[in-house]
Amino acid sequence: MQHLSDRSLLLLWEQGLSQSLIEKSLRLIVHTFPGLDIQTAAALSIGDRDARLLRIRKALFGEALQNATHCPACGEKIEWEMPVSGLELQTIQPAAERPQLEFQYQNKELVMRLPNTMDVLEAIELESPEEQSNSLLQRCILRSSLPFERVEDYPESLKSDILHQMESLDPQANIEIQVQCPACQHAWNMLFDIMNYLWTEIGQLAHRLLQDVFLLARSFGWPEAEILAMSRTRRNWYIQMLQS
Ligand SMILES: [Zn+2]
Repeated sequence: MQHLSDRSLLLLWEQGLSQSLIEKSLRLIVHTFPGLDIQTAAALSIGDRDARLLRIRKALFGEALQNATHCPACGEKIEWEMPVSGLELQTIQPAAERPQLEFQYQNKELVMRLPNTMDVLEAIELESPEEQSNSLLQRCILRSSLPFERVEDYPESLKSDILHQMESLDPQANIEIQVQCPACQHAWNMLFDIMNYLWTEIGQLAHRLLQDVFLLARSFGWPEAEILAMSRTRRNWYIQMLQS
């Protein structure tokens, strides 16, 4: 994993302003994990992709995650802190190593791969959750000698077996946090969206960096590149001196 300098971070943030959340997240992965291009990154399983985003988050902002939500039962605002490592459910696989899932049905064989970003992007265009799930599975078939052309004709037991195995091979694809409301004791599972979370933090950091550059450039006339090349510690010292 490659270190992200403040300069590259600002650039990625700026370019990301005109990109979708998924596109800028894949570009961030490409930038941070050498040897990946955008196609390879888009073909990573969802769990692997999100495991990499969690690693980037930890490298940029440390272990502590601040969370906030409202209790769906009583409306109470709940805020808590948790470690990133508590959400890390799978290790990062080399991009060339793609796990395959094998199934037997009435002595016939079905070989599948895990869903990736491209599959999800195509599936979410469809209307019903059932169509989405079928399209996702259809795209993941590598080889099949089953007597069914389309996933919608698969028996339900086979479909749920496939989904179950996909989930256990790619657990990071679905991060749920157990929350309990301290006011009314209502308990529920909340989905954690690493892409949204990470880009909110990157946006806040970018604004702080721009503010630092503005202050230092205005006071000392230093060029932006030099200010960004300084360590944060040194930059903070100068800013503290200006404000004291
Ligand atoms: Zn509550």
